Amino acid sequence: GYHQAVKENRQLYNTLQELRGNIQVFCRIRPMFNEEAKCTIDYIGNDGSLMVIDPLKPQNTRKIFQFNRVFGPTATQDEVYKDTQALIRSVMDGYNVCIFAYGQTGSGKTHTMCGPSNGSSKDMGINYMALNDLFQISSIREDVKYEIRVQMVEIYNEQVRDLLAEDASNTKLEIRNCSSNVWLSLPDANVHLAQSTADVLNLMKLGEKNRAFSSTAMNHRSSRSHSVLTVHVHGKDISGSAIHSCLHLVDLAGSERVDKSEATGDRLKEAQHINKSLSCLGDVITALSQKNSHIPYRNSKLTQLLQNSLGGNAKMLMFAHVSPEADSYGETISTLKFAQRASTVELGAAHLNKESSEIRELKEQIDGLKKALAIKE
Ligand code: ADP
Ligand code: MG
Repeated sequence: GYHQAVKENRQLYNTLQELRGNIQVFCRIRPMFNEEAKCTIDYIGNDGSLMVIDPLKPQNTRKIFQFNRVFGPTATQDEVYKDTQALIRSVMDGYNVCIFAYGQTGSGKTHTMCGPSNGSSKDMGINYMALNDLFQISSIREDVKYEIRVQMVEIYNEQVRDLLAEDASNTKLEIRNCSSNVWLSLPDANVHLAQSTADVLNLMKLGEKNRAFSSTAMNHRSSRSHSVLTVHVHGKDISGSAIHSCLHLVDLAGSERVDKSEATGDRLKEAQHINKSLSCLGDVITALSQKNSHIPYRNSKLTQLLQNSLGGNAKMLMFAHVSPEADSYGETISTLKFAQRASTVELGAAHLNKESSEIRELKEQIDGLKKALAIKE
């Protein structure tokens, strides 16, 4: 009785949120690393609620948060993917989808998106599972012919770098603002056609290689940069209608506040840049949640790149990652508050990026006529 009611309640909440087109928020709590430490997570409801407490404060009051879903420390990658799958699959129907992982360094963002840090091929993350899924759909559906392309960039110190370029060290990319065509926002980025998950694994390896530094520098950099894997999907069905959609999979820089007081040189520059993009993301989300008329997308590379997804016509999902240890309490609360704010953002109705063959033909005619006119003039 009770559990059924809770379950139905959650389904209803999720359906309503989806109908309203809000940013969906899933919270994920990683396991404790230090068995001795006190834990800040007091209670996880199976209705997407979560109770947090500061065990080190005597007057410890409990704070309650509500999300679409909460994954506790024992949740597996498969369980997480299962709840993400429907959203990802809708890319194949022509919807744009953006999934991003938010949270302090060490809270499990890369674990969710890429998989375990030991590089084991078990427990693959959402990036791999998503592409695997898309290839499967592509092979099953005989009525549509799909092409799947992959692009990988990193934003570091407010510069966009192409991770799939031959020489990634000096390929800085310019963002072009293009309101309707999300896939054109980085016109110079390398986009690789992928035929199988093996191809994707190779591309991911190339991307990792291009990010490679000494391992400490690597950890440092990965916590300071945003990585964006974009999957472009083209589909043509037998009636001649075409879809063109994209899936952004974003592993954000660590959300922890960086102490600028002791930083000098490169570190200072970094501290100032980091999180320009991240604090800008916060500003954009606040502006969207308050329904402001001006949304400051142009203030950072990340928000410029994701402009069409943020508050636009894409479906969005945010993973809010938290570390359960007591000494992370402050960051945990700030992550959960950020996520709570994001969940109030209403998106535009998700737009189906599909054109019938008639419309395509008419557009081609118009283009042809325009050219003919231009030649006469
Ligand atoms: P972030 O990318 O947020 O800095 P990581 O994903 O690198 O954090 O996670 C930090 C460490 O915790 C890694 O060693 C990772 O494998 C481990 N970890 C994170 N989340 C989980 C989880 N849900 N289950 C098991 N290990 C996890
Ligand atoms: Mg990481």
